[in-house]
Amino acid sequence: MNVRFVDFQSEYAELRDEILPALERVCQTAAFVQGPEVEAFEREFADFCGAKHCVALSTGTAALHLGLLAIGVQPGDEVITTPNTFIATAEAITYCSARPVFVDIDPATANLDARQIERAVTPRTRAILPVHLYGRPADIEPMREIAARHGLCVLEDAAQAHGARYRQRRVGTLGDAAAFSFYPTKNLGAYGEGGALTTNDDRIAGYARLARSHGQTARYDHKFVGYNYRMQGFQGAILRIKLRRLYAWTQKRRQIAAEYRKLLAGLPLDVPVDDARDECIYHQFAIYVANRSALAAQLAERGIETAVHYPKPLHLQPAYLALGFPRGTFPNAERACERVLSLPIHPALTPEQVTYVANSVREILSAK
Ligand SMILES: *Cc1c(COP(=O)(O)O)cnc(C)c1O
Repeated sequence: MNVRFVDFQSEYAELRDEILPALERVCQTAAFVQGPEVEAFEREFADFCGAKHCVALSTGTAALHLGLLAIGVQPGDEVITTPNTFIATAEAITYCSARPVFVDIDPATANLDARQIERAVTPRTRAILPVHLYGRPADIEPMREIAARHGLCVLEDAAQAHGARYRQRRVGTLGDAAAFSFYPTKNLGAYGEGGALTTNDDRIAGYARLARSHGQTARYDHKFVGYNYRMQGFQGAILRIKLRRLYAWTQKRRQIAAEYRKLLAGLPLDVPVDDARDECIYHQFAIYVANRSALAAQLAERGIETAVHYPKPLHLQPAYLALGFPRGTFPNAERACERVLSLPIHPALTPEQVTYVANSVREILSAK
């Protein structure tokens, strides 16, 4: 049996009859950049998140960048974040000529460890940037308390967490602003690049709306030096169609995760812990094992694709060695990166495939 890690074909087969007319509408009106589909998506995604504003952007990385600028990150500032994430989280800090200050993860959740943040705060610290890794909400409440004590802002990296809930509330308004990505492989993915910034703050939204389009207030009137971070019309049209499916797709992912947890119980592996008060939307189903590459190779022999999110923590990436955090600085993140393996979890998986993946993991790990 073959089990693919992502399955764009079956999703497209399901949506084709809605997608092609929507793209036709964009072509007919030539609304290729922003335009009515993007505006409608902004309203719909803001409602979905329970946010006052959604500003559609070109990528999730652009959303992180504008989010940091909007909350006032200046050159020379420090921003506290996790080393166990995709590099874009830290790159956005670097784009502001600010310095990423990594803090280790909580090994139970793989998210930024709130208990270790306060000792990393210095007079230069401006913001905390937690990531809701794999769709599991970071523990924001203590981070907000630390932020309030030290006059910091909180920007959520919600690129993997569309619709996840922290204590009943959807991510997107848990901090001052939140950055989403609609890269094709995300739970809500465009057919190309896409991103958004959500916030309840009028000033942050106003800044992002100008900054995404060259700081332009009226045609050829540029209030400040901005960026070209606008969303394409096609992507807005696609995202509206997919947003209507997102709740059902998320339920499917959660069912698969529950099934994996049941079928993998008792094996020599760890799975990140879910807080019963929260709702993880399982962008990835990560497991931690001693011999990750052997397991991945043997699963591949059985036709099962897996992936590694992420093989190297950011402080050990060549791009960030100059920050001066040597190996051993963040032992929990380093250990996670050595052991993590993502199993296939997408809405098109059949129950037979899920059982096949779990049984294969069981057989391989029990054979040792
Ligand atoms: C995907 C991702 C990003 C970047 O989003 P792009 O749309 O690819 O620019 C940022 N942070 C995290 C955690 C991501 O997974």
